[in-house]
Amino acid sequence: MNTQTNTQALRFEPDFKSRAHDALADPKLRKSFRGAMDFLQSKRTAMFPDDAELQALRDLGEAVRKHALANLPELLVQLEEKLSANGITVHWAETADEANEIILGIAQRHQAKRVIKGKSMASEEIELNHYLAEHGVNCVEADMGEYIVQLADEKPSHIIMPAVHKTKADIGELFEDKIPDTHYTEDVDELIQIGRRALRHQFMEADIGLSGVNFAAADTGTLWLVENEGNGRMVTTVPSVHIAIMGMEKVVAKLEHIVPMASLLPRSATGQMITTYFNLISSPRKPGEKDGPKEVHLVLLDNGRTQAFADDELRATLQCIRCGACMNHCPVYGRIGGHAYGTTYPGPIGKIISPHLLGLRATADLPTASTLCGACGEVCPVRIPIPQLLVRLRTEANRNPHEAVAHPLRGQGAKYRRSEKLVWRFWSGAFAHPAIYRVFRWAATRLRALTPKSQLGWTQHRTPLKPAEKSLADLLNERGQPE
Ligand code: SF4
Repeated sequence: MNTQTNTQALRFEPDFKSRAHDALADPKLRKSFRGAMDFLQSKRTAMFPDDAELQALRDLGEAVRKHALANLPELLVQLEEKLSANGITVHWAETADEANEIILGIAQRHQAKRVIKGKSMASEEIELNHYLAEHGVNCVEADMGEYIVQLADEKPSHIIMPAVHKTKADIGELFEDKIPDTHYTEDVDELIQIGRRALRHQFMEADIGLSGVNFAAADTGTLWLVENEGNGRMVTTVPSVHIAIMGMEKVVAKLEHIVPMASLLPRSATGQMITTYFNLISSPRKPGEKDGPKEVHLVLLDNGRTQAFADDELRATLQCIRCGACMNHCPVYGRIGGHAYGTTYPGPIGKIISPHLLGLRATADLPTASTLCGACGEVCPVRIPIPQLLVRLRTEANRNPHEAVAHPLRGQGAKYRRSEKLVWRFWSGAFAHPAIYRVFRWAATRLRALTPKSQLGWTQHRTPLKPAEKSLADLLNERGQPE
């Protein structure tokens, strides 16, 4: 199945290494990410004071997601049946372009020119705003962070906090420049009020409200959205048409399965005990009701997810509940920020999902941008073995592209080099035979003067070790321990 769409081919910028290099050379960006990540890490830690409770909750979260994925085809059919019975129209989109066409088709049928959109990473993934704009439909972001990056003509740099890379001064200047009759301020409350005022009339004038979906319960046909600002509720209730877009893996078997997720998600994401709003949507406006949309649509998006689903190991990627905890704890993301990745999903989750959405040829550098320290896997609320998946994707990128495997990944062998394979084969042979290894070591020791002094990024960006002030023997003596 070819899921590399024209839209993505146009907008994805694959030069990860040079963007990462630029980001490392930007002290302002590094400082703002370091501060934000430290803050989020400490908030999450404070939310889980009892490790036994955290581990039990993670077990539950993992079980719910694994159960859903084990029954995914049946649950999706059940979800469609329940939603249809409830009056919600379900659309299946195999690619990003198909999803865009479906949404544009609904807009054109209603002669809609204005769409107001709540936070939705799936809509970012398909580049919906650009697509609609190209067809004469204006789409305005209603989530404050998304609204800021839209005004700045940028992409989100974090899946939960899209404008985390911006300072108060940046936002003050942006609002002064882009929102009429606005003065410069760095006062956060005032900035929020400016944004709210600018957005308020957009809700009233929009023809269509568009939202994401955090989870969908197959047994009741319920769409579940969490949010903090109230924009999600406005988007899903004020306009007369509501379109929800959801990655097809977000379904769970039962409504009650969402309850542990509702506890895990905000605590892992923003360090909140609970989010301000839970929106449960089961149908359009019913006869006699005074508000709510008259039409509700759900677009179920594949866009490469079936590739991950087909592989027993990589399927775990689809357990993700998009909390962002892995990126908050990733030493690489904390240094280079989200834009360096060039993908909709940055950080550890981006490194394991993007190869399915965009193909390994475009994303082969991403799984290598990891120290494999394991922090992402340790904080993941649904226990996705991210380091293990990164190693597997590296293997797939370096596999012979002609090698027959059960489920070849799109772009398999993108980094395959015959000469490199031969070097590793020699290395493994040397390690397997002590005599050869000893000869190799003897020769390497004598030739080490030939190794370059500067080893590019490794020597430029790591903190050099300081020479010890005291020897180990002195330290042990001071402590009265035997040498
Ligand atoms: S991979 Fe895990 S930690 Fe990262 S966003 Fe997904 S659920 Fe959260």
